[in-house]
Amino acid sequence: HSKDCVKVAVRVRPFNKRERDAGSRSIVSMVSSSITIQDPRDPQSRRSFCFDYAYWSHSGFARDRGGLYVPEEPGGRYADQDSVFQDLGEGILENALQGYNATLLAYGQTGSGKSYSMVGYGPNKGLVPKLCDRLFQAIRENQDTRQCQVFFSMLEIYNEQVVDLLSRGSRNPGGLRVREEQQRGFYVEGLRTVPCDSAPQVEQLMEQGTRTRTTAATHMNANSSRSHMLIILQLKQIFSKESITKQSNINLVDLAGSERQRSSGSEADRLKEGTAINLSLTTLGNVISSLADVAVGKKVVHIPYRDSVLTKLLQSALGGNSRTVMIATLSPADICYEESLSTLRYAERAKRIQNRAVVNESPTE
Ligand code: ADP
Ligand code: MG
Repeated sequence: HSKDCVKVAVRVRPFNKRERDAGSRSIVSMVSSSITIQDPRDPQSRRSFCFDYAYWSHSGFARDRGGLYVPEEPGGRYADQDSVFQDLGEGILENALQGYNATLLAYGQTGSGKSYSMVGYGPNKGLVPKLCDRLFQAIRENQDTRQCQVFFSMLEIYNEQVVDLLSRGSRNPGGLRVREEQQRGFYVEGLRTVPCDSAPQVEQLMEQGTRTRTTAATHMNANSSRSHMLIILQLKQIFSKESITKQSNINLVDLAGSERQRSSGSEADRLKEGTAINLSLTTLGNVISSLADVAVGKKVVHIPYRDSVLTKLLQSALGGNSRTVMIATLSPADICYEESLSTLRYAERAKRIQNRAVVNESPTE
């Protein structure tokens, strides 16, 4: 048994074109693992937050010929994908190999770098592909002590409906059902889980899932920034000498944009979206708040896990049996001040959550 807090990292990305064209000013600064944000209308007003890690990916980068973002000089200031993976990914992998469940969440406004950090673009591979690379490498290295199986699933939560991103065509009108079982907790019924034995195979599945997500969004005249994407990696390790089986789930979550959602659809869509799309993100916030209260010893009667699909599926990751990491992503620009401040506040509450992670092991049947 070990009791540990949710680990929280913040990362600030470079200016995008829109911000550069608007002549934006940077309002964030970082010193080791703390970040300071300045109110652009009141330069005297600064707020500082301290996290487990703070990544400066705003300036000090060079793009090498392959389109890879790397620090301008070796050991330079720009925090690249590798350094983020070393801090956040390696630990998750290690935990999973020990038999712990692990969860990694990316939170932030649309365009702030969630998908860049989680999945990555082109040669700038993010946490998930790097994690898979290392996972299959570790499996090869440990071949003589254990036999491993990896299963991959990928789903999206949109409007409180679960869409399987790996099964084309068979789209249930109401989405897949979320069920609960005593031992297993909440799970998605009928979700496709694909056995995998190499990193390229996983990457191919991720590409397939990402394509399905985009076409589904276009089809529904929706924006994929409003859906949550969840990848579940199940790792089963059989230690034949000891007759022990360890099983761990790794949840990798690219959350919907945290900005207050403005609907572009009809009035009916707006109503539906207002109540449903944000329901998962709002409930996640409520769950995080309640758990943060629990952590400081306040009396909390009820933690509203059951109020949304996302929090049901993440129940064990939040205050339960999982090692959890959140990466909160920010724009550096003055025009994003409100959203960035709200992201930092959210992340600050998440940091207080305490989980009780246990090794999931049982005698091999
Ligand atoms: P989100 O998923 O939060 O909507 P994205 O991850 O798609 O945002 O990022 C928006 C844009 O910013 C992308 O073009 C991405 O390449 C770029 N970007 C994000 N984070 C970084 C970073 N750390 N370094 C360089 N570019 C980044
Ligand atoms: Mg994204």
